[in-house]
Amino acid sequence: MHFKHLSPEDGLVALRERVRQFVDQACIPLESNDLSHDVAALDRVLASLRPQAQAAGLYLPQLPPSLGGLGLSWVERAVVLEEAGRSFLAPGAMNCAPPDQPNMISLMRHGTPGQKERYLLPLAQGKVRSCFAMTEPQPGAGSDPSMLKTFATRTSKGWSITGHKWFITGASGAGFAIVLAMTDDGPTQFIVETRNPGYQLLRTIDAMDPYAIGGHGELLLQDCCVGADAVLGEVGQGLRDAQVRLEPARLSHCIRFIGRARRALEIAQDYANQRSSFGAQLSDLQQIQAMVADSHMDLHASRLMTLDCASRMDAGQSVKTESAMTKIFVSEAVNRVADRAAQMMGALGMSADTVVSLIVRELRPFRIYDGASELHRATLGRRFLKANVSNKE
Ligand SMILES: Cc1cc2nc3c(=O)[nH]c(=O)nc-3n(C[C@H](O)[C@H](O)[C@H](O)COP(=O)(O)OP(=O)(O)OC[C@H]3O[C@@H](n4cnc5c(N)ncnc54)[C@H](O)[C@@H]3O)c2cc1C
Repeated sequence: MHFKHLSPEDGLVALRERVRQFVDQACIPLESNDLSHDVAALDRVLASLRPQAQAAGLYLPQLPPSLGGLGLSWVERAVVLEEAGRSFLAPGAMNCAPPDQPNMISLMRHGTPGQKERYLLPLAQGKVRSCFAMTEPQPGAGSDPSMLKTFATRTSKGWSITGHKWFITGASGAGFAIVLAMTDDGPTQFIVETRNPGYQLLRTIDAMDPYAIGGHGELLLQDCCVGADAVLGEVGQGLRDAQVRLEPARLSHCIRFIGRARRALEIAQDYANQRSSFGAQLSDLQQIQAMVADSHMDLHASRLMTLDCASRMDAGQSVKTESAMTKIFVSEAVNRVADRAAQMMGALGMSADTVVSLIVRELRPFRIYDGASELHRATLGRRFLKANVSNKE
């Protein structure tokens, strides 16, 4: 892959190489099936890797140097995140994994000085984890956030929040949650500390993806009292304010998962180069060659779409349409790549003896969260038809 902006002089090539070494030498050797669905064990391994990420100058690629980050542009981050994304562990070790990464972006943009001090700094330093709680069980908000049933009412000292949330990634072990709740003035984001007596983690949901940091929690908020200073952003503007995190979150997921799918393909290619069947190498079979070619095309197109979004974001342009197109395409493309990789590996590809099957399980839910493909297609189709846009750009 050639990037016009990548040259040895600007250090990005060297940075990418350092990430690659960190992934291959420090992270991949520590991956183990024992970490799958074990939140505490995963936290321990990530804590052991963080000092190494810091020593290698790889910590917090998304934050400015004033907050201890690398201050990379979006295009630079795309290069770093793809490499990091090859390992289940590297994004967490480099503190650029969801949901903390987009929560840091929200706090940077909307946080008051007090909120930055209390929540953003410890998050950046890796002293706490966080989660973002929007989705609710029926009849609450899912694809349609306007169906929010969690409600916050004003009290003499601030707000009282009551509601039920689920599939909240990172909830187990989180120090605070950014909760989206309805108020009389409209949806609003609140920062709720998880030690609040009105906040309860009911359970960790046994979802199919194996390495979610902090799992996926079901939460109950009952008369959960918070101060007036718990509002993140503007009262009544919670959906608009949450959008600030959703677009970067989507794009970052896409980039990390290109790395993950690339790793599945690398493993499957090795298998095809070594395994024979009916007297031929698998790699000599045209159907295998076609699967490899299609997978590289999927990854190449995915990379170009994410880089286009990244460069638009660097230029300060809105990527409302481009990020939705990219999310649909990449989430489906990386699933195709991982599925083909597993298929090429036969029975082995169906087992936990290879990370390929774990990658398949990890990528599948990405077609649902951050907006299901169907939802984004419906929104895009309506937008294009309404504006009669020909997409000639
Ligand atoms: C692994 C995982 C992690 C998650 N992490 C978080 C988190 O950290 N925080 C959080 O708040 N939420 C999280 N979620 C929840 C996620 O955001 C929701 O699952 C998503 O918004 C869809 O909502 P829903 O599950 O209620 O599906 P529903 O809204 O019930 O939709 C079901 C299906 O109906 C179809 N559909 C819905 N609307 C339309 C439409 N307009 N047009 C066409 N088809 C449509 C789609 O196929 C969709 O998948 C996570 C989910 C998963 C699986």
